[in-house]
Amino acid sequence: MNQKVLVTGGTGFVGVHILLQLLQKGYDVKTTLRSMKKKDMIIDTLKENGVQNLEKLSFIEADLSKDCNWEEAMEDRDYVFSVASPVFFHEPESEEEAIRPAIEGITRILKAAQKMNVTRVVMTSNFGAVGFSKKAAIGVVTTEEDWTDENEAGLSIYEKSKLLAERAAWDFVSQPDITLEFATVNPVAIFGPSLSEHISGSFMLINNLLNGSMKRIPEIPLNIVDVRDVADIHIRAMLTPEANGERFIASADGQTSLQEMAEILKAKRPQISKNVSTKKMPNVALRTAALVNKQAKEGLLLHGMNRNVKNDKAKQMLGWQPISTNEEVILASVDSMMNFKLI
Ligand code: NAP
Repeated sequence: MNQKVLVTGGTGFVGVHILLQLLQKGYDVKTTLRSMKKKDMIIDTLKENGVQNLEKLSFIEADLSKDCNWEEAMEDRDYVFSVASPVFFHEPESEEEAIRPAIEGITRILKAAQKMNVTRVVMTSNFGAVGFSKKAAIGVVTTEEDWTDENEAGLSIYEKSKLLAERAAWDFVSQPDITLEFATVNPVAIFGPSLSEHISGSFMLINNLLNGSMKRIPEIPLNIVDVRDVADIHIRAMLTPEANGERFIASADGQTSLQEMAEILKAKRPQISKNVSTKKMPNVALRTAALVNKQAKEGLLLHGMNRNVKNDKAKQMLGWQPISTNEEVILASVDSMMNFKLI
């Protein structure tokens, strides 16, 4: 495999899975890091997960908010995965401060990729850029044709930053003189096995169930996807000629819900689920709590969302087939948390 790939953000939960799969397939892989201090941690993680051809992996320092090194990073690359993105574990204070690096970051990457004759960039966007708008639309299916309205009530700053960054990226590549190919992957909440103790922000949901802070569980439907399937769909979006100019929703088949997650944890991992409540929170109680409680307010917005999500496009165009059921994704996540003593 002579093709050369750059992955931005190799330290991340998703990034390191992409590195793993690319190296397993024999690609020459480079990854950007904000700090070289994390290089050994990545090497150790990949070694522990059976990667032997580490001579095919190289590193370069680059930050989304600085121009330095992006062109050098792409000098000899055929493909770029734009995975790194500012992600917030807490809501940032300033919307501008949060959104600017995401938009400027992808623009920097695309400019450098065009200049350095990269064939295709695959951007990790977000399902929030697709399907946050169709609340309670019974019978309506969300597809890649949909775009979230940036003024949609309840859109978090993170989601808005992803939406605006993806829009900026499409605007950039649609300019007449741009020859660069471009595709996006739009994952729903990503769970699944972590390769290190660095887990995804979405694992907070499981944590909140396990630590008993959710005493009653609101009826919130969810779409989730296994991180291994997310890495796989990126590689398919890189290789499939027809994927140029397309968005791909990455979601496991069907839906799950907070209630179902709680029940799976109780039934399948009882040793750590003593505090997990399976008591339902009536919708009226959620509405009342939302008047005074921020978490409940967010829950109320999610409660009304259309979760009827179609993943057919990636299956048909890329030959992608998610390997994990919702239950397997949830259990793989919680097993990782146990394995790395995070619970
Ligand atoms: P993560 O584990 O927090 O990784 C984020 C990565 O971005 C890290 O490598 C981080 O590097 C890097 N990064 C952050 N700010 C940066 C900056 N200013 N310059 C350069 N690198 C920067 O997140 P993740 O869960 O793997 O998410 C990966 C991608 O998937 C993101 O684009 C995210 O928006 C998207 N996504 C995630 C989910 C989910 O449920 N996790 C769902 C949909 C989409 P450091 O190690 O230096 O911090």
